[in-house]
Amino acid sequence: MNQIPLAIPHMSGNEQKYIQQAFDTNWIAPLGPNVDQFEANLATYSGAKDVAATSSGTSAIHLALTLLNVQAGDTVFCSTFTFIASINPALYIGATPVFIDSETDTWGMSPVALGRALEDAATKNKLPKAIIVVHLYGQSCKMDEIMELANRYGVPVVEDAAESLGSTYKGRQLGTIGAFGIYSFNGNKIITTSGGGALLSNDATQIEKARYLGSQAKEVAPYYSHSEVGFNYRLSNILAGIGIAQLDVLEERIAKKRAIYDAYKAAFENHSGITFLSELEGTFNNRWLTTVLLEKMSPEDVMEKLAAKGIESRRLWKPMHTQPLFETATYYSEETSNADILFEKGLCLPSGTQLTEGQLDYVCKTLMEIIK
Ligand SMILES: *Cc1c(COP(=O)(O)O)cnc(C)c1O
Repeated sequence: MNQIPLAIPHMSGNEQKYIQQAFDTNWIAPLGPNVDQFEANLATYSGAKDVAATSSGTSAIHLALTLLNVQAGDTVFCSTFTFIASINPALYIGATPVFIDSETDTWGMSPVALGRALEDAATKNKLPKAIIVVHLYGQSCKMDEIMELANRYGVPVVEDAAESLGSTYKGRQLGTIGAFGIYSFNGNKIITTSGGGALLSNDATQIEKARYLGSQAKEVAPYYSHSEVGFNYRLSNILAGIGIAQLDVLEERIAKKRAIYDAYKAAFENHSGITFLSELEGTFNNRWLTTVLLEKMSPEDVMEKLAAKGIESRRLWKPMHTQPLFETATYYSEETSNADILFEKGLCLPSGTQLTEGQLDYVCKTLMEIIK
């Protein structure tokens, strides 16, 4: 049986050219001309003042929190509905995560729950050092509401846009609205360097500092000199070459992803058993993965039945406040915990940009049979 994967890397063909250049010039190092070029292209594309390429999205978040002076014992607010990588860096630092529910329009951080959490924190004189909002599945959170709250309490925002490169909020690229934004170029993301990430900001001094911290905090001196704790977090010059070629086809990939979403949406338009993550007015979604809520069947059940027909699907993120790792963490939900409902009902459908029309038809027909 034909195996249809959820989504796999999709090379443009030009990647080899940049990799070859790195070999020809023997720039086999973290840093080099491909890294400079990739950073410049990312800055141009996103509109951010400056961008530092990193070894992963996770390391970019770690750098952001370090630059925001998050320290052991501080609290960090984060969306509960996300991948663990959003919050692991806070744990590296010894900071305490406090989780915030999703709202139902975007599945992103609920301004209502965030407002309650901030009010509580202010009363206890223990405001968080940072708020990590996560733009999941290409969909922007309600940024005006979130930024208004964050600014009111003076707490900086880090945008985890790992899944949302190319998505916008009121015309602005995600990742450029808060104090810092991060992208991921892991193998499963909309474009990939096999592994990699980026940290972006409109404060160029902070990005310069990120480059320094990310290369072992090595000071400018005729010998090895260090006054701060640093990291080895920069992107390899070879991998940056892959990134340059991948960024060139990002718009094509987004167009295909959106067409895949549209095809699913059309196929299940009038089906009461399925609802789709919609696109909030004023936002543009890269449709990294088409995600749905199943109203009448469990996602586990549907996933197994799809797998039996050679189709890979995947549950949505399991909320952080339900993870054994965060058993004792504080959680602010809306009246009902939306994040839990999303987990209980949600499924990611095959969304690879190599999907043929025939495969897409097959997935739709199979899914229709399963849920009818
Ligand atoms: C993939 C992902 C990350 C982490 O990126 P890596 O490059 O794998 O470290 C962070 N947050 C979210 C929401 C992600 O999906």
